[in-house]
Amino acid sequence: MKDDFSIKGEVISALETIKDPATDTSIVDSHLVENVVVKAGVVDLTLVVDAKGNREDRFALEDAIADAVEAIAGVSEVKIKSMTAQALAQEQKGQTPTAPRPNASPAKTPAAAQQQPRQPTMPASEALEGVGRVIAVASGKGGVGKSTVAVNLALALQKLGHRVGLLDVDIYGPSLPTLLGINGRPEVNNRRILPLKANGLSVMSLGFLMEEDTPVIWRGPIVTGIIRQFLRDVDWSGIDYLIVDMPPGTGDAQLALAQTVPVDGAVIVTTPSDLALVDAARGLQMFKTLNIAVLGIVANMSKFVCPATGEVYHIFGDPAVVEKEARRLETVMLGDIPLDMAVRKGGDEGRPVVVADPDGAVTAAFIALAEKVAAATPVGAASEQPEKKKGLFSFLKS
Ligand code: ADP
Repeated sequence: MKDDFSIKGEVISALETIKDPATDTSIVDSHLVENVVVKAGVVDLTLVVDAKGNREDRFALEDAIADAVEAIAGVSEVKIKSMTAQALAQEQKGQTPTAPRPNASPAKTPAAAQQQPRQPTMPASEALEGVGRVIAVASGKGGVGKSTVAVNLALALQKLGHRVGLLDVDIYGPSLPTLLGINGRPEVNNRRILPLKANGLSVMSLGFLMEEDTPVIWRGPIVTGIIRQFLRDVDWSGIDYLIVDMPPGTGDAQLALAQTVPVDGAVIVTTPSDLALVDAARGLQMFKTLNIAVLGIVANMSKFVCPATGEVYHIFGDPAVVEKEARRLETVMLGDIPLDMAVRKGGDEGRPVVVADPDGAVTAAFIALAEKVAAATPVGAASEQPEKKKGLFSFLKS
């Protein structure tokens, strides 16, 4: 096995081939890369960025560095920390950098960020332009209804008057095209990918880019690249909530999301079965490690109400178990969604239950969930934004 010292030599040589777009000299010669450290195959480095520089150039540079270093045999991981020269100098003097993030969501003032520092090894994530809040919908394992909850939560947030985007990065089986009954190739305008529209939501899914029936086997760096691109290159502007449907489990996707944008909260979906709960607890722990606030756990398929007799059955287990587990994990049970054939039928037919059955009990449960999510992650001016909230003849008064 190669030792760290020789890996470091190769890393420097690889970095020397990458040019600083501003000066056209190597990023090593122009001192844009600092603090290259290799430990057990993990490469840490600092990229010095210009606070006023072009974001796209910076992202391209980060990607080029990650690609070049990841290609070196013996490198298991690359961690790029992007910071301004001033912040780097402060850090070297032993002070914490306090650079404010442009477009940071309201709750994340520089002061708040200082109280809750992100992990020191985490590359600097940057707020998405024009997006209020980013919410990850995750689960410990597949088949618990994560995508169903993501779609209906997005629609319920929209019902509350918010503008909502939905991003599907479930690499194992992107299901949003089916759940929403849409497909097609997204258009590109001005180097930005335009999300498709479905039921008022702005939607982007891996499924739009894949041929049907293609077996999907993607390695870590590719997953990371796709997630970065879907967040940075898609035009999400003008959105209050971006709901991200994550792949199940704990892995590269979660890390890539956390490294790319500040995530305002994670919602963990589970069924009340013991096994699913164990996986949910693992997922929750991972978000905590990534410094992402867990908003709570949703118990999906928590009960079945027999339409004929009104009797309640707990097919997958009692939701009280989820509540207890949530307490043990120092979080809350955010929602409780019944098992209902209308949910499954709506998913199969591309008409989510919140749209297909707006007055039903399941829709009410999704709206209650959306209210809790919105209360935990309020967006500044959301209530003033939607046109439909204005009176029909309000233009006469202005
Ligand atoms: P995941 O994203 O966790 O893999 P899905 O959202 O694809 O799970 O759901 C798996 C299956 O369970 C789908 O057929 C879906 O329609 C069904 N389902 C999910 N939630 C419910 C529910 N509350 N009631 C009935 N069926 C549901």
